[in-house]
Amino acid sequence: VTTSLAEDLTRLVGDPAQVNDGESARRLHGDPYVGIERASLPDAVVYPTTTAEVSAIVAYAAQRSIAVTAYGAGTSAEGMTIPREGGITLNLTRLETIEVRPESLQATVGAGVTRSALNRAAGEHGLQFPVDPGADATLGGMTATNASGTTAVRYGAMRQNVLELEVVLADGTTVRTGSRTVKTSAGYNLTHLFVGSEGTLGVICSVTVRLYGIPEHVIAARAAFATLEAASACATALIAAGVSVQRVELLDAGTLAAMNAYKGLDVPLVPHLFLELAGTRESAEAELGEAREIAEASGVRGWETATAHAERRRLWEARHEVLFAMEHAHPGATCKGTDTCVPLGELPGAIAHSRRVMEEAGFPAYIIGHVGDGNYHAMFMVDPADGAQMARQKAAEAEIVHDCLARHGTSTGETGVGISKMGHVAAEHADLLPLMRAVKTMLDPSGILNPGKIFEP
Ligand SMILES: Cc1cc2nc3c(=O)[nH]c(=O)nc-3n(C[C@H](O)[C@H](O)[C@H](O)COP(=O)(O)OP(=O)(O)OC[C@H]3O[C@@H](n4cnc5c(N)ncnc54)[C@H](O)[C@@H]3O)c2cc1C
Repeated sequence: VTTSLAEDLTRLVGDPAQVNDGESARRLHGDPYVGIERASLPDAVVYPTTTAEVSAIVAYAAQRSIAVTAYGAGTSAEGMTIPREGGITLNLTRLETIEVRPESLQATVGAGVTRSALNRAAGEHGLQFPVDPGADATLGGMTATNASGTTAVRYGAMRQNVLELEVVLADGTTVRTGSRTVKTSAGYNLTHLFVGSEGTLGVICSVTVRLYGIPEHVIAARAAFATLEAASACATALIAAGVSVQRVELLDAGTLAAMNAYKGLDVPLVPHLFLELAGTRESAEAELGEAREIAEASGVRGWETATAHAERRRLWEARHEVLFAMEHAHPGATCKGTDTCVPLGELPGAIAHSRRVMEEAGFPAYIIGHVGDGNYHAMFMVDPADGAQMARQKAAEAEIVHDCLARHGTSTGETGVGISKMGHVAAEHADLLPLMRAVKTMLDPSGILNPGKIFEP
Protein backbone atom coordinates (compact mmCIF):
# COMPACT_ATOMS: atom_id res chain seq x y z
CA VAL A 1 0.00 0.00 0.00
CA THR A 2 1.45 3.38 -0.91
CA THR A 3 0.81 6.28 1.42
CA SER A 4 0.95 10.01 0.75
CA LEU A 5 3.63 12.27 2.21
CA ALA A 6 1.03 13.87 4.50
CA GLU A 7 -0.08 10.44 5.76
CA ASP A 8 3.51 9.43 6.47
CA LEU A 9 4.18 12.68 8.33
CA THR A 10 0.99 12.26 10.36
CA ARG A 11 2.14 8.78 11.35
CA LEU A 12 5.47 10.27 12.53
CA VAL A 13 3.99 13.09 14.63
CA GLY A 14 0.80 11.34 15.70
CA ASP A 15 -1.64 14.24 15.26
CA PRO A 16 -3.20 15.09 11.85
CA ALA A 17 -3.51 18.74 12.99
CA GLN A 18 0.30 18.97 12.83
CA VAL A 19 0.41 18.30 9.08
CA ASN A 20 -0.99 20.43 6.27
CA ASP A 21 -0.67 19.82 2.56
CA GLY A 22 -3.43 22.26 1.60
CA GLU A 23 -2.81 24.89 -1.04
CA SER A 24 -2.88 27.91 1.32
CA ALA A 25 -0.41 26.45 3.86
CA ARG A 26 1.92 25.45 1.02
CA ARG A 27 1.67 28.93 -0.56
CA LEU A 28 2.28 30.61 2.79
CA HIS A 29 5.52 28.66 3.14
CA GLY A 30 6.79 29.01 -0.42
CA ASP A 31 5.67 32.32 -1.84
CA PRO A 32 7.77 33.67 -4.67
CA TYR A 33 10.32 36.31 -3.83
CA VAL A 34 10.90 39.28 -6.09
CA GLY A 35 13.60 38.65 -8.68
CA ILE A 36 13.75 34.92 -7.99
CA GLU A 37 12.14 33.08 -10.84
CA ARG A 38 12.40 29.56 -9.53
CA ALA A 39 10.00 30.04 -6.65
CA SER A 40 8.33 26.81 -5.60
CA LEU A 41 6.05 25.34 -2.94
CA PRO A 42 6.61 22.57 -0.40
CA ASP A 43 4.63 19.35 -0.89
CA ALA A 44 3.61 19.40 2.77
CA VAL A 45 4.10 21.53 5.88
CA VAL A 46 4.62 19.84 9.23
CA TYR A 47 4.55 21.48 12.68
CA PRO A 48 6.66 19.36 15.08
CA THR A 49 6.29 20.04 18.81
CA THR A 50 9.40 18.25 20.10
CA THR A 51 13.00 17.59 19.07
CA ALA A 52 12.13 13.86 18.87
CA GLU A 53 9.50 14.64 16.23
CA VAL A 54 11.97 16.78 14.24
CA SER A 55 14.47 13.93 14.41
CA ALA A 56 11.91 11.35 13.20
CA ILE A 57 10.84 13.59 10.29
CA VAL A 58 14.42 14.30 9.16
CA ALA A 59 15.37 10.58 9.43
CA TYR A 60 12.31 9.73 7.29
CA ALA A 61 13.24 12.40 4.72
CA ALA A 62 16.87 11.17 4.63
CA GLN A 63 15.79 7.61 3.82
CA ARG A 64 13.76 8.87 0.86
CA SER A 65 15.97 11.82 -0.22
CA ILE A 66 13.15 14.31 0.37
CA ALA A 67 14.17 17.97 0.74
CA VAL A 68 13.59 19.52 4.20
CA THR A 69 13.32 23.29 4.65
CA ALA A 70 13.30 24.69 8.18
CA TYR A 71 10.93 27.63 8.70
CA GLY A 72 10.66 30.07 11.61
CA ALA A 73 8.69 33.31 11.25
CA GLY A 74 9.41 33.56 7.50
CA THR A 75 10.76 37.12 7.82
CA SER A 76 14.12 36.48 6.18
CA ALA A 77 14.97 38.71 3.28
CA GLU A 78 16.87 36.64 0.71
CA GLY A 79 14.47 33.90 -0.40
CA MET A 80 15.94 31.50 2.15
CA THR A 81 12.78 29.63 3.01
CA ILE A 82 11.72 28.99 -0.60
CA PRO A 83 11.76 25.19 -0.96
CA ARG A 84 13.49 25.03 -4.34
CA GLU A 85 13.04 21.26 -4.55
CA GLY A 86 9.63 21.08 -2.86
CA GLY A 87 9.51 18.38 -0.19
CA ILE A 88 8.82 19.03 3.49
CA THR A 89 8.73 22.44 5.15
CA LEU A 90 9.35 22.09 8.87
CA ASN A 91 7.51 24.92 10.58
CA LEU A 92 9.26 25.10 13.96
CA THR A 93 7.04 27.68 15.68
CA ARG A 94 5.59 25.03 18.01
CA LEU A 95 8.99 24.44 19.61
CA GLU A 96 8.14 27.12 22.13
CA THR A 97 9.60 26.20 25.53
CA ILE A 98 11.36 29.00 27.44
CA GLU A 99 13.65 28.45 30.42
CA VAL A 100 15.19 31.61 31.89
CA ARG A 101 18.12 31.13 34.30
CA PRO A 102 18.48 34.68 35.65
CA GLU A 103 21.41 33.88 37.95
CA SER A 104 23.47 32.75 34.91
CA LEU A 105 22.13 35.52 32.62
CA GLN A 106 20.96 32.86 30.17
CA ALA A 107 17.87 31.40 28.59
CA THR A 108 17.35 28.13 26.72
CA VAL A 109 14.49 28.37 24.27
CA GLY A 110 12.80 26.27 21.63
CA ALA A 111 13.69 27.31 18.07
CA GLY A 112 10.18 28.67 17.48
CA VAL A 113 10.22 31.17 20.35
CA THR A 114 10.01 34.73 19.05
CA ARG A 115 12.27 37.56 20.13
CA SER A 116 9.31 39.36 21.76
CA ALA A 117 8.20 36.23 23.68
CA LEU A 118 11.73 35.72 25.01
CA ASN A 119 11.90 39.38 26.03
CA ARG A 120 8.59 39.12 27.88
CA ALA A 121 9.90 36.13 29.86
CA ALA A 122 13.34 37.66 30.49
CA GLY A 123 11.76 41.00 31.42
CA GLU A 124 10.11 39.37 34.45
CA HIS A 125 13.65 39.05 35.85
CA GLY A 126 14.77 42.56 34.81
CA LEU A 127 16.66 41.02 31.88
CA GLN A 128 16.53 41.38 28.10
CA PHE A 129 17.68 39.65 24.93
CA PRO A 130 18.83 42.66 22.90
CA VAL A 131 19.54 41.26 19.40
CA ASP A 132 16.91 43.11 17.38
CA PRO A 133 16.40 42.56 13.64
CA GLY A 134 13.28 44.72 13.66
CA ALA A 135 10.97 41.90 12.60
CA ASP A 136 9.58 39.60 15.32
CA ALA A 137 11.65 36.65 14.15
CA THR A 138 12.15 33.29 15.90
CA LEU A 139 15.31 32.50 17.81
CA GLY A 140 15.87 29.49 15.50
CA GLY A 141 15.61 31.67 12.38
CA MET A 142 17.75 34.39 13.92
CA THR A 143 20.40 31.81 14.80
CA ALA A 144 20.24 30.24 11.35
CA THR A 145 20.82 33.64 9.69
CA ASN A 146 23.25 35.11 12.27
CA ALA A 147 20.79 37.99 12.56
CA SER A 148 21.69 41.31 14.08
CA GLY A 149 20.22 44.80 13.77
CA THR A 150 20.23 48.15 15.48
CA THR A 151 21.76 46.99 18.78
CA ALA A 152 24.63 44.88 17.37
CA VAL A 153 27.00 47.81 17.88
CA ARG A 154 26.69 47.21 21.63
CA TYR A 155 25.70 43.54 22.04
CA GLY A 156 26.96 41.86 18.87
CA ALA A 157 25.07 39.65 16.42
CA MET A 158 23.58 36.20 17.17
CA ARG A 159 27.00 34.58 16.87
CA GLN A 160 28.25 36.58 19.88
CA ASN A 161 25.18 35.62 21.91
CA VAL A 162 24.54 31.93 21.24
CA LEU A 163 26.25 29.62 23.74
CA GLU A 164 24.77 26.20 23.05
CA LEU A 165 22.62 24.58 20.38
CA GLU A 166 20.59 21.42 20.05
CA VAL A 167 20.70 20.42 16.39
CA VAL A 168 19.12 17.59 14.40
CA LEU A 169 21.58 16.50 11.72
CA ALA A 170 20.69 15.41 8.19
CA ASP A 171 20.34 11.70 9.18
CA GLY A 172 18.05 12.50 12.12
CA THR A 173 20.73 12.25 14.84
CA THR A 174 20.50 14.90 17.58
CA VAL A 175 23.66 16.63 18.86
CA ARG A 176 24.48 19.41 21.33
CA THR A 177 27.15 21.95 20.49
CA GLY A 178 28.91 24.41 22.80
CA SER A 179 28.07 24.60 26.51
CA ARG A 180 26.27 26.84 28.97
CA THR A 181 29.43 28.78 29.66
CA VAL A 182 30.48 32.14 28.28
CA LYS A 183 33.68 30.60 27.00
CA THR A 184 34.92 27.17 25.98
CA SER A 185 38.03 25.86 24.26
CA ALA A 186 36.76 22.29 23.82
CA GLY A 187 37.58 21.55 20.19
CA TYR A 188 36.22 22.97 16.94
CA ASN A 189 33.57 25.64 17.32
CA LEU A 190 30.65 23.88 15.64
CA THR A 191 28.16 26.21 17.32
CA HIS A 192 29.48 29.02 15.17
CA LEU A 193 29.33 26.78 12.10
CA PHE A 194 25.59 26.18 12.59
CA VAL A 195 24.95 29.87 13.34
CA GLY A 196 24.38 31.47 9.94
CA SER A 197 24.09 28.14 8.09
CA GLU A 198 20.53 29.00 6.91
CA GLY A 199 19.11 25.54 7.54
CA THR A 200 21.59 23.90 5.17
CA LEU A 201 23.63 21.93 7.75
CA GLY A 202 21.14 20.94 10.44
CA VAL A 203 17.81 21.81 12.04
CA ILE A 204 18.23 23.87 15.21
CA CYS A 205 15.74 22.76 17.87
CA SER A 206 16.90 24.71 20.90
CA VAL A 207 19.15 27.67 21.51
CA THR A 208 20.87 28.86 24.69
CA VAL A 209 21.52 32.59 24.59
CA ARG A 210 23.03 35.24 26.81
CA LEU A 211 20.76 37.73 28.56
CA TYR A 212 21.61 41.23 29.78
CA GLY A 213 20.29 43.58 32.45
CA ILE A 214 17.75 46.13 31.22
CA PRO A 215 19.53 49.49 31.47
CA GLU A 216 18.11 51.82 34.11
CA HIS A 217 18.19 54.93 31.93
CA VAL A 218 17.97 55.31 28.14
CA ILE A 219 18.39 58.48 26.09
CA ALA A 220 17.67 58.84 22.38
CA ALA A 221 19.24 61.60 20.33
CA ARG A 222 19.03 62.64 16.72
CA ALA A 223 21.86 64.52 15.08
CA ALA A 224 21.45 66.36 11.75
CA PHE A 225 24.31 66.73 9.24
CA ALA A 226 24.82 68.50 5.93
CA THR A 227 25.96 65.34 4.15
CA LEU A 228 25.76 61.57 4.49
CA GLU A 229 29.54 61.42 4.54
CA ALA A 230 29.71 63.83 7.53
CA ALA A 231 27.10 61.76 9.39
CA SER A 232 28.92 58.49 8.74
CA ALA A 233 32.28 60.03 9.70
CA CYS A 234 30.68 61.10 13.00
CA ALA A 235 29.47 57.53 13.63
CA THR A 236 33.00 56.25 13.04
CA ALA A 237 34.42 58.91 15.40
CA LEU A 238 31.91 57.95 18.13
CA ILE A 239 32.96 54.30 18.01
CA ALA A 240 36.67 55.17 17.82
CA ALA A 241 36.30 57.36 20.94
CA GLY A 242 34.75 54.44 22.82
CA VAL A 243 31.37 56.10 23.35
CA SER A 244 29.17 53.24 24.44
CA VAL A 245 26.26 53.77 22.03
CA GLN A 246 23.48 51.21 22.17
CA ARG A 247 22.33 52.11 18.66
CA VAL A 248 23.66 54.44 15.97
CA GLU A 249 21.66 54.50 12.76
CA LEU A 250 22.19 56.52 9.60
CA LEU A 251 19.16 57.74 7.63
CA ASP A 252 19.34 59.81 4.45
CA ALA A 253 17.03 62.73 3.63
CA GLY A 254 14.83 60.66 1.30
CA THR A 255 14.27 58.02 3.98
CA LEU A 256 13.26 60.73 6.45
CA ALA A 257 10.76 62.19 3.95
CA ALA A 258 9.18 58.74 3.50
CA MET A 259 9.24 58.15 7.26
CA ASN A 260 7.69 61.55 8.08
CA ALA A 261 4.86 60.93 5.61
CA TYR A 262 4.25 57.36 6.84
CA LYS A 263 4.43 58.04 10.59
CA GLY A 264 3.30 61.69 10.80
CA LEU A 265 6.69 62.95 12.01
CA ASP A 266 8.50 66.18 11.17
CA VAL A 267 12.20 65.29 11.25
CA PRO A 268 14.14 67.87 9.15
CA LEU A 269 15.01 66.53 5.70
CA VAL A 270 18.81 66.29 5.97
CA PRO A 271 20.97 63.23 6.71
CA HIS A 272 20.66 62.13 10.34
CA LEU A 273 22.17 59.83 12.89
CA PHE A 274 19.67 58.36 15.35
CA LEU A 275 21.52 57.45 18.55
CA GLU A 276 20.66 55.64 21.74
CA LEU A 277 22.72 55.72 24.94
CA ALA A 278 21.95 53.56 27.94
CA GLY A 279 23.23 52.80 31.41
CA THR A 280 22.70 54.40 34.79
CA ARG A 281 21.35 57.95 34.63
CA GLU A 282 24.83 59.35 35.30
CA SER A 283 26.67 57.13 32.81
CA ALA A 284 24.09 57.63 30.03
CA GLU A 285 24.18 61.40 30.49
CA ALA A 286 27.98 61.42 30.52
CA GLU A 287 28.03 59.36 27.29
CA LEU A 288 25.47 61.73 25.78
CA GLY A 289 27.69 64.72 26.57
CA GLU A 290 30.66 63.02 24.98
CA ALA A 291 28.61 62.03 21.91
CA ARG A 292 27.45 65.62 21.49
CA GLU A 293 31.02 66.95 21.66
CA ILE A 294 32.10 64.49 18.96
CA ALA A 295 29.08 65.39 16.83
CA GLU A 296 29.98 69.09 17.11
CA ALA A 297 33.53 68.38 16.05
CA SER A 298 32.03 66.46 13.08
CA GLY A 299 29.97 69.49 11.98
CA VAL A 300 26.56 68.58 13.40
CA ARG A 301 23.83 71.04 12.28
CA GLY A 302 21.06 70.10 14.70
CA TRP A 303 20.75 68.01 17.88
CA GLU A 304 17.62 66.82 19.73
CA THR A 305 17.36 64.42 22.66
CA ALA A 306 14.47 62.42 24.09
CA THR A 307 14.33 60.58 27.40
CA ALA A 308 10.56 60.03 27.69
CA HIS A 309 9.70 56.42 26.86
CA ALA A 310 6.86 57.32 24.46
CA GLU A 311 9.00 59.75 22.50
CA ARG A 312 11.91 57.28 22.16
CA ARG A 313 9.55 54.52 21.19
CA ARG A 314 8.00 56.68 18.47
CA LEU A 315 11.41 57.42 16.97
CA TRP A 316 12.63 53.81 16.96
CA GLU A 317 9.30 52.48 15.80
CA ALA A 318 9.59 54.86 12.83
CA ARG A 319 13.14 53.62 12.19
CA HIS A 320 12.03 49.98 12.27
CA GLU A 321 9.23 50.66 9.80
CA VAL A 322 11.27 52.52 7.17
CA LEU A 323 10.91 49.62 4.74
CA PHE A 324 7.13 49.95 4.88
CA ALA A 325 7.47 53.76 4.64
CA MET A 326 9.52 53.38 1.44
CA GLU A 327 7.02 50.97 -0.09
CA HIS A 328 4.19 53.32 0.92
CA ALA A 329 5.98 56.19 -0.89
CA HIS A 330 6.24 54.12 -4.10
CA PRO A 331 3.03 52.14 -4.60
CA GLY A 332 3.61 49.03 -6.71
CA ALA A 333 7.39 49.16 -6.25
CA THR A 334 9.40 46.60 -4.31
CA CYS A 335 12.48 47.29 -2.29
CA LYS A 336 15.68 45.47 -3.32
CA GLY A 337 18.53 46.28 -1.00
CA THR A 338 22.21 45.69 -0.51
CA ASP A 339 23.56 44.63 2.91
CA THR A 340 27.22 45.50 2.57
CA CYS A 341 29.46 45.96 5.60
CA VAL A 342 32.90 47.58 5.53
CA PRO A 343 35.67 48.23 8.04
CA LEU A 344 34.70 51.40 9.93
CA GLY A 345 37.49 53.50 8.42
CA GLU A 346 36.12 52.74 4.93
CA LEU A 347 32.55 53.73 5.78
CA PRO A 348 32.42 57.37 4.58
CA GLY A 349 34.13 56.44 1.28
CA ALA A 350 31.89 53.43 0.73
CA ILE A 351 28.75 55.47 1.40
CA ALA A 352 29.88 58.25 -0.98
CA HIS A 353 30.46 55.60 -3.67
CA SER A 354 27.05 53.98 -3.09
CA ARG A 355 25.35 57.37 -3.29
CA ARG A 356 26.96 58.05 -6.69
CA VAL A 357 25.88 54.64 -8.00
CA MET A 358 22.35 55.24 -6.75
CA GLU A 359 22.13 58.66 -8.41
CA GLU A 360 23.40 57.23 -11.71
CA ALA A 361 20.92 54.33 -11.57
CA GLY A 362 18.11 56.85 -12.12
CA PHE A 363 15.32 55.44 -9.96
CA PRO A 364 14.33 56.05 -6.32
CA ALA A 365 16.84 54.74 -3.80
CA TYR A 366 17.62 55.30 -0.14
CA ILE A 367 20.51 54.73 2.25
CA ILE A 368 20.01 53.54 5.82
CA GLY A 369 22.47 51.73 8.02
CA HIS A 370 23.65 50.29 11.27
CA VAL A 371 26.70 52.43 10.75
CA GLY A 372 28.34 51.73 14.10
CA ASP A 373 29.14 48.29 12.61
CA GLY A 374 30.01 49.64 9.15
CA ASN A 375 26.82 47.95 7.85
CA TYR A 376 24.37 49.82 5.59
CA HIS A 377 21.70 49.21 2.99
CA ALA A 378 21.28 50.91 -0.38
CA MET A 379 17.56 50.37 -0.93
CA PHE A 380 16.34 50.52 -4.54
CA MET A 381 12.63 50.86 -5.26
CA VAL A 382 12.01 48.81 -8.38
CA ASP A 383 9.06 47.66 -10.40
CA PRO A 384 9.40 43.86 -10.45
CA ALA A 385 7.51 43.71 -13.76
CA ASP A 386 10.04 46.03 -15.47
CA GLY A 387 12.83 43.75 -16.65
CA ALA A 388 15.10 46.61 -17.78
CA GLN A 389 14.79 48.32 -14.39
CA MET A 390 15.47 45.05 -12.54
CA ALA A 391 18.61 44.57 -14.66
CA ARG A 392 19.79 48.13 -13.87
CA GLN A 393 19.20 47.53 -10.17
CA LYS A 394 21.19 44.31 -10.33
CA ALA A 395 24.08 46.08 -12.05
CA ALA A 396 24.03 48.91 -9.49
CA GLU A 397 23.97 46.38 -6.64
CA ALA A 398 26.92 44.50 -8.16
CA GLU A 399 28.87 47.74 -8.43
CA ILE A 400 28.26 48.56 -4.75
CA VAL A 401 29.27 45.04 -3.67
CA HIS A 402 32.37 45.17 -5.85
CA ASP A 403 33.46 48.44 -4.22
CA CYS A 404 32.75 47.04 -0.75
CA LEU A 405 34.85 43.91 -1.40
CA ALA A 406 37.69 46.10 -2.68
CA ARG A 407 37.55 47.80 0.74
CA HIS A 408 37.93 44.39 2.48
CA GLY A 409 34.24 44.38 3.40
CA THR A 410 31.58 41.68 3.15
CA SER A 411 28.61 41.42 0.79
CA THR A 412 26.18 40.65 3.61
CA GLY A 413 26.59 41.96 7.13
CA GLU A 414 23.33 40.63 8.55
CA THR A 415 20.58 39.37 6.27
CA GLY A 416 22.50 36.39 4.85
CA VAL A 417 22.73 34.77 1.45
CA GLY A 418 19.67 32.63 0.66
CA ILE A 419 19.15 32.64 -3.09
CA SER A 420 19.42 36.33 -3.90
CA LYS A 421 22.97 36.95 -2.65
CA MET A 422 24.58 33.71 -3.89
CA GLY A 423 26.39 35.53 -6.70
CA HIS A 424 27.91 37.99 -4.23
CA VAL A 425 29.17 35.22 -1.96
CA ALA A 426 30.73 33.47 -4.96
CA ALA A 427 32.59 36.72 -5.69
CA GLU A 428 33.56 37.27 -2.06
CA HIS A 429 34.68 33.73 -1.23
CA ALA A 430 35.61 32.11 -4.54
CA ASP A 431 38.59 30.36 -2.88
CA LEU A 432 36.43 29.08 -0.02
CA LEU A 433 33.52 27.67 -2.03
CA PRO A 434 35.13 24.20 -2.42
CA LEU A 435 35.65 24.07 1.35
CA MET A 436 32.08 25.24 2.03
CA ARG A 437 30.77 22.56 -0.36
CA ALA A 438 32.93 19.91 1.38
CA VAL A 439 31.48 20.87 4.77
CA LYS A 440 27.96 20.70 3.31
CA THR A 441 28.64 17.26 1.78
CA MET A 442 30.07 15.91 5.01
CA LEU A 443 27.14 17.05 7.14
CA ASP A 444 24.42 16.51 4.54
CA PRO A 445 25.64 13.90 2.02
CA SER A 446 22.30 13.59 0.20
CA GLY A 447 21.81 17.36 0.05
CA ILE A 448 18.33 17.28 1.59
CA LEU A 449 18.67 20.26 3.95
CA ASN A 450 17.40 23.50 2.35
CA PRO A 451 18.97 22.67 -1.03
CA GLY A 452 20.04 25.42 -3.44
CA LYS A 453 20.92 28.05 -0.84
CA ILE A 454 24.19 29.95 -0.09
CA PHE A 455 25.90 28.39 -3.15
CA GLU A 456 24.78 26.25 -6.09
CA PRO A 457 25.36 22.54 -5.37
C1 LIG B 1 11.03 44.68 8.28
C2 LIG B 1 12.21 43.75 8.39
C3 LIG B 1 13.41 44.22 8.91
C4 LIG B 1 14.50 43.37 9.03
N1 LIG B 1 15.65 43.87 9.56
C5 LIG B 1 16.69 43.02 9.79
C6 LIG B 1 17.86 43.49 10.44
O1 LIG B 1 17.98 44.66 10.79
N2 LIG B 1 18.85 42.60 10.68
C7 LIG B 1 18.76 41.29 10.32
O2 LIG B 1 19.69 40.51 10.59
N3 LIG B 1 17.68 40.83 9.66
C8 LIG B 1 16.63 41.64 9.40
N4 LIG B 1 15.51 41.18 8.78
C9 LIG B 1 15.49 39.78 8.28
C10 LIG B 1 14.93 38.71 9.25
O3 LIG B 1 14.14 39.26 10.28
C11 LIG B 1 16.04 37.83 9.81
O4 LIG B 1 16.70 37.18 8.75
C12 LIG B 1 15.54 36.78 10.82
O5 LIG B 1 16.67 36.27 11.47
C13 LIG B 1 14.78 35.62 10.20
O6 LIG B 1 14.18 34.86 11.24
P1 LIG B 1 12.85 34.01 10.94
O7 LIG B 1 12.42 33.35 12.20
O8 LIG B 1 11.84 34.84 10.26
O9 LIG B 1 13.46 32.90 9.96
P2 LIG B 1 12.90 32.37 8.56
O10 LIG B 1 12.73 33.48 7.62
O11 LIG B 1 11.73 31.50 8.81
O12 LIG B 1 14.14 31.46 8.12
C14 LIG B 1 15.37 32.06 7.79
C15 LIG B 1 16.40 31.00 7.42
O13 LIG B 1 16.72 30.24 8.57
C16 LIG B 1 16.39 28.86 8.39
N5 LIG B 1 15.81 28.42 9.66
C17 LIG B 1 14.74 28.95 10.31
N6 LIG B 1 14.57 28.31 11.48
C18 LIG B 1 15.55 27.35 11.56
C19 LIG B 1 15.90 26.37 12.50
N7 LIG B 1 15.22 26.23 13.63
N8 LIG B 1 16.96 25.55 12.24
C20 LIG B 1 17.67 25.70 11.10
N9 LIG B 1 17.38 26.61 10.16
C21 LIG B 1 16.34 27.43 10.39
C22 LIG B 1 15.42 28.82 7.23
O14 LIG B 1 15.51 27.58 6.53
C23 LIG B 1 15.93 29.97 6.39
O15 LIG B 1 17.04 29.54 5.66
C24 LIG B 1 14.40 42.01 8.63
C25 LIG B 1 13.19 41.54 8.10
C26 LIG B 1 12.10 42.39 7.98
C27 LIG B 1 10.82 41.82 7.43
